Amino acid sequence: MSLFRFFLKKSEADEASDSFSSRGRTKDQEGVRQCVLSADAEHAELVYRLKRARRKTVGLRIDADGLTVTAPTRLARRAIDDIVRSKRAWIDRKLLEQRERQQLRPALQLVHDALLPYRGAHCRVDLRSQPKRSHWERLSDGPIVRLSAKDAQSPQSVRAALERLWKERALEVFEERLATFASRLTIAPRRVAVSSALTRWGSCSSSGSIRLSWRLLALDDELIDYVVAHELAHLVHMNHSPEFWREVQRLCPDCMERSARLKHYSIADLSF
Ligand SMILES: [Zn+2]
Repeated sequence: MSLFRFFLKKSEADEASDSFSSRGRTKDQEGVRQCVLSADAEHAELVYRLKRARRKTVGLRIDADGLTVTAPTRLARRAIDDIVRSKRAWIDRKLLEQRERQQLRPALQLVHDALLPYRGAHCRVDLRSQPKRSHWERLSDGPIVRLSAKDAQSPQSVRAALERLWKERALEVFEERLATFASRLTIAPRRVAVSSALTRWGSCSSSGSIRLSWRLLALDDELIDYVVAHELAHLVHMNHSPEFWREVQRLCPDCMERSARLKHYSIADLSF
């Protein structure tokens, strides 16, 4: 959740009239209204929830419901819209981050026909109770994972089947991504292993082996590559010093932008 508090000038806080426009206005719960800020030359239309409260400041909050503005009871709607407009860059950025976070969540129910996040897109799950081996297939509308669980009704059994298949696939993908860095490496990893870590995307040991979580497959290849480059750079510098970051940058020139983007994702959200 992102919060922003906007302190009002005395004159704004004292403005008395409330000028709700009739367009797009509904009451969805006590004291909360849905408002629409119309599109202008630079911005698309923005829908937000407006809550009135006995307070002196305007608060902006972004969560799964989108933008909620909490404003003093008697502050004019025009003044509120001006504040929202002035914070538009921040709002749009936070809404985008929120959407990116949510994209991962609804997909994580391991049921038949579920869509799992996979390399920046999705793959469909075809879940059966059968002793056959699980496998991947690429259909015209994207990848599908034919998941064979001992008992398709048992979440544990389904999870185990998926994890087995995902680990195999992850190793193939990681090796493929690592190969793209090979010509730029000063030190090659001694070993690359797939982990089930739920706390870190990757790690590097002083013995020169790299471990990458199979959950990385939920991210797009740019982010997977960034994590791979990050761990490869640890083979040269076992710390996060400026020299380390120079090495990451050498392997992955826009690492800073990717590192910032990776922060929108929480590996803990990928616990099936
Ligand atoms: Zn690191």
